[in-house]
Amino acid sequence: MSVREAPRPAQSAADSPLHRTRTLGRFRLHALEAGLQRLDGGAMFGVVPKPLWEKRIPADERNRIPLALRCLLVETPDALVLVDNGVGNKEDAKFREIYGVENDGSPTRLEDALRDAGFAPEDVDVVIDTHLHFDHAGGNTYRDADGAIRLSFPRARYVVQEGEWEWAHSRNERVRASYLPHNFDPVHEAGRFELVSGDREVVPGVREVHTPAHTPHHQSVLLASEGEVACYLADLVPTAAHPPLPWIMGYDVEPLVTLETKRRLLGRAREEGWLLIFEHDPAVPWGRLDPAQERPTLVPEP
Ligand SMILES: [Zn+2]
Repeated sequence: MSVREAPRPAQSAADSPLHRTRTLGRFRLHALEAGLQRLDGGAMFGVVPKPLWEKRIPADERNRIPLALRCLLVETPDALVLVDNGVGNKEDAKFREIYGVENDGSPTRLEDALRDAGFAPEDVDVVIDTHLHFDHAGGNTYRDADGAIRLSFPRARYVVQEGEWEWAHSRNERVRASYLPHNFDPVHEAGRFELVSGDREVVPGVREVHTPAHTPHHQSVLLASEGEVACYLADLVPTAAHPPLPWIMGYDVEPLVTLETKRRLLGRAREEGWLLIFEHDPAVPWGRLDPAQERPTLVPEP
């Protein structure tokens, strides 16, 4: 299947199944569809002109494009690992309207997707936060019926890069709108955050890899089992339209660092045939790079 034959972007959360499952060696990968948000298309594609990007993901009348909130549940022989967790349920109506968030569920669509895949929040052993932006770590915690903020995964240890933790608390004017303390401070206060530095294996076959610089300490997750490799890219390559090297988000704090990270990681992905998993693509959950093309060219998989 070529990129042009990719499925149509979801226009509402209900357009996507709650989850999709496939195997990777001895692992089972569950793509959990935690809902949709809508962000400015220009900001999502940086220096790429609109006539090019709107062919890939058309914009609404406010120039916003639909983006998935696709989290990854990894079932390994050793642990149940959740990578990222969407927006959560703590934001008010105005916030949800601005960002076009659609993630209703019990308490959010993420938990519904988790149950649909056969698990409960208390089954999760490890939560990996690729970074602490509200659309990635918002589901770390939830607001209960009495208004109290609780941990969404009561048994889990939560893992994030220490540098990302510090960056989230630096609160500089360019980035602070993305960091909402109720998404991560309660995890720390409960003593459940593990702050790590650099690349590290979290459980056998599940490895955090430092992939700057959407944020300086952004991480992706590399999965390996029985010779098969997959990579959850998070905001390094947010959609299946972003593999070309200069297609970099305007949100990135150091886009030229992102460029070099993409060159290195996607080069390996192409040579070694990795399965690439896209957190925000509204149609394509995963795919591989065409080994015959020098320029990163995605071949989507169902
Ligand atoms: Zn982000």
